[in-house]
Amino acid sequence: MSVIDVAHGLGISNAAMIKKLMQLGMMTSVNEVIDRETIEIIALEEGFTVKDEVVTDVTRYDEFKIEDDPESLVKRPPIVTVMGHVDHGKTTLLDTIRKSRVVEGEAGGITQHIGAYQVVRNGEPITFIDTPGHAAFTEMRARGAKVTDIVILVVGADDGVQPQTIEAIDHAKAAKVPIIVAVNKIDRVQANPERVMTDLSEKGLIPEEWGGDTPFVMISALKNQGIDKLLEMIQLISDLEEFKANPKRLARGTVIEASLDKGRGPVATLIVETGTLRIGDVIVVGNTYGKVRTMQDDLKNRFKEAIPSQPIEITGLDEVPEAGDIFMAFDDEKVTRQIASQRQSRQREGELKIVKKRSLDNMLGDIESSDKELTVIIKADVQGSIEAIKGLLEKMDIDGFHVNVVRGSVGSITESDVTLANASDAIIIGFNVRPTSSVRKIADEQGVEIRLYSVIYRVAEDIESALKGMLDPTFEEIVTGQAEVRDTFKLSKVGTIAGCYVTDGVIKRNALVRIIRDGVVIYEGKLGSLKRFKDDAKEVRQGFECGLSVEKYDDIKVGDVIEASQMREVEVE
Ligand code: GDP
Repeated sequence: MSVIDVAHGLGISNAAMIKKLMQLGMMTSVNEVIDRETIEIIALEEGFTVKDEVVTDVTRYDEFKIEDDPESLVKRPPIVTVMGHVDHGKTTLLDTIRKSRVVEGEAGGITQHIGAYQVVRNGEPITFIDTPGHAAFTEMRARGAKVTDIVILVVGADDGVQPQTIEAIDHAKAAKVPIIVAVNKIDRVQANPERVMTDLSEKGLIPEEWGGDTPFVMISALKNQGIDKLLEMIQLISDLEEFKANPKRLARGTVIEASLDKGRGPVATLIVETGTLRIGDVIVVGNTYGKVRTMQDDLKNRFKEAIPSQPIEITGLDEVPEAGDIFMAFDDEKVTRQIASQRQSRQREGELKIVKKRSLDNMLGDIESSDKELTVIIKADVQGSIEAIKGLLEKMDIDGFHVNVVRGSVGSITESDVTLANASDAIIIGFNVRPTSSVRKIADEQGVEIRLYSVIYRVAEDIESALKGMLDPTFEEIVTGQAEVRDTFKLSKVGTIAGCYVTDGVIKRNALVRIIRDGVVIYEGKLGSLKRFKDDAKEVRQGFECGLSVEKYDDIKVGDVIEASQMREVEVE
């Protein structure tokens, strides 16, 4: 509870409450949330006892999950996200699809962007998420929402496979969502669809006509060619995959977009995942709640109810939720309010930040509850190492537990790797490569574990023991800081001295060091000497300069990064 709520409950002033907290050694503001033990102590002093009011147990995202009786499930339309490299025509494709329906005269008039829309082909609707690209897709997945059923990968036939094409494939694969490749811009003279097919085959997307199982459709989003074929393919896959939901229950789903409208207050576009949402329903959305007042689609058609897979813009919420928030309808308004306020205070306590700490140590418990799979991303200095590690890991099968490599690529560990890891509950294995300190920070914030290795069999050993549930590392390497080499001097007796600037953390004498050049580890060893000006230093902190040498290594160059670390004993449970 917050300080103010406790004071109110006990019938004392906020100032008196804050004073009591100060006596307990706590400096707080009135809105801060305090722990239960503290509340009990103060309550006791005031002659109260603390009792839990059992509101409901439906307060966490996990508890928003509901099991439907298989008998109650009926077919629902597929939900499609368009991904691909920038300028390959994602937006044009989404516009063309939407316009083709308007032209058909199903509903004339001006469309408005609400984040998702439906088109009907042969009497059956398809839902499109109107924000192309994998950033939104991944952000939602990272927050626990799984909205997309099918990914359309748009590849410009004139430009071929590009970095974001590959990223999109990684994300779709990690989410285990079927991919349809739309080879776009086939109207252009420079178009080379064959090359797209060859390049994607190398990435594991082998065209059906070449004996693979990925559908490829040739289109021109601009000239409206092949669009119906693409829609047909979506419906084919949808029939195959049998997306289902139970419409006869209170609705649950995801927020696609939300904003504050001057006239209408908070508006949110929701996609109903299961159940039916009706006007007048009370819903919890993320940390807020409300009563559905109006519902309309992108053509401003008004609705009284929304069924599974239907995107709908609603008003009536108390506050603006966030994209990716889960919503759920309840039949009791009071419960809804209580859940929302509990979630608000939890969020203040930082509990709802949904940092799903995923580390090898706690992996087994997690995998047991999910699908017996350890998801990893491999980054290495050379392709050969990736192949070797991948080969070793994918071979493993320990009591049905196995390893799924969702990305293996050459280069240093980047923010994009961390994002993918976060969304896929994966750990990142770095082999002879390092993250920069900013990437490391992001990983820490998101609870993504990065494990660094320089010997292949150690990777296999660790992963194997993690799968066996026996990982008991007694020592752990803690990176303490990084320094940048700004100058080098050669001294005949000592060898090369690097003039460095500590960019992050602290460099300690006796540290273990790695020399990183362009994100790749080129040497590992021990610090030889550490000096501030002429004097030996015990440690040098961020923002200061120092001179250092590395034992048995003289080839330090300007621009190299020196990463210092220490071994720390880890408590064994
Ligand atoms: P996005 O970044 O993937 O959303 O790409 P856009 O949809 O904004 O398209 C980028 C550019 O490619 C625009 O100038 C479009 O007009 C053009 N474009 C998109 N589709 C086609 C197509 O099928 N043929 C041709 N010739 N140009 C296209």
